[in-house]
Amino acid sequence: MEFRTRAIHVGQEPDPTSGAVVPPVHLASTFVLPAAEGPADYDYARTGSPTRHAFEAVAASLDGGARALAFASGMAATHCVSLLLKPGDHLVTGTDIYGGSWRLFNNVLTEQGVAITAVDTSDLEAVRAAIRPETRMLWIEPIGNPLMSVTDVAGCVAIARAAGVLLVADNTLATPVLCRPLELGADIVMHSATKYIGGHSDLLGGLLVARDDELGDRLHWLQNATGGVMGPLESFLCCRGVKTLELRVLAQSATAARLATWLQQQPRVCRVHYPGLSDQPGHDLARQQFHGGFGGMVSFEIAGDVAAARRVVESTKIFRLAVSLGAVESLIELPAVMSHGAYAPEARQAVGITDGLIRLSVGLEAAVDLEADLASALATLGD
Ligand SMILES: *Cc1c(COP(=O)(O)O)cnc(C)c1O
Repeated sequence: MEFRTRAIHVGQEPDPTSGAVVPPVHLASTFVLPAAEGPADYDYARTGSPTRHAFEAVAASLDGGARALAFASGMAATHCVSLLLKPGDHLVTGTDIYGGSWRLFNNVLTEQGVAITAVDTSDLEAVRAAIRPETRMLWIEPIGNPLMSVTDVAGCVAIARAAGVLLVADNTLATPVLCRPLELGADIVMHSATKYIGGHSDLLGGLLVARDDELGDRLHWLQNATGGVMGPLESFLCCRGVKTLELRVLAQSATAARLATWLQQQPRVCRVHYPGLSDQPGHDLARQQFHGGFGGMVSFEIAGDVAAARRVVESTKIFRLAVSLGAVESLIELPAVMSHGAYAPEARQAVGITDGLIRLSVGLEAAVDLEADLASALATLGD
């Protein structure tokens, strides 16, 4: 079945007791067992629960994996993956990555004896050069954040395989609609389900999808041992969210592409970052790697000082000034002081997250309204 059909039907069998078309939300924390040690589908909800399983089933199908696991947040999912590493191991990550992942890697894992090297993963030579004998994991974002750099998933798979290193892709920005890293050979996909999968700014959630059962079972063991699981209400909302995922992501990508082109023509905008623009360094790769669009995230730099960028983000009316991304409503923010405040100032500069960088998460509003909103915010800067 096609992606859109699976998004609506996998794991969503009508309730056998009532015939309800939408599976119920099972809130139970514990389940009656047929015998003290007998096998049962469910025993305790940390280990597994029916509503979470419904979401995990559809999530595994959409990313093309053997097993999916739903977590309380994206960071809980990332933390669970990081437990595959031991003191003395080495992790290679991108520089253009989610600020919270950067904090976990550089401020928490380092304390636990894991060495970290951050490189520009859009440069395969840099990735190859960063691999050491102790390297155990390569962490990439197919679409980077906040600079929207494009990382060659298949190229990184080849490097990781040759070195016997696990490849994990944070696919939050690309979503399984545009890119399915497991099909390109990645070992694990991670998502913040808080973003496009939930899609409505009304839940926190995370997801891991494993390529094979062995890795899936190991991650499930770690998830059960540490306990950061997704609750039943969030699982229900994620099941609902994925039903419209493809429609939303394609529409958001189309609007983002239009706004990116328009922003390039604005005199106060000195640089636009969007993989769909033909002048971008990652554009040719993006055309091969992403299907149906280039995502709903755009960032751009304003000529002038930080105050000018602040004025713009504080002047929009439809774009709300807020972190997060991927929902139906459009958001605007300043990465240097908001989403990427966890980077040390020097690291931020080195990576290219300038003080005047503005990030947009494009929602489902009409493109003309969003364009007019940005035009009036830019107009507050004068000529
Ligand atoms: C939000 C986000 C995360 C973290 O997810 P939470 O649900 O906020 O814990 C990780 N990676 C990316 C790319 C994100 O946007």
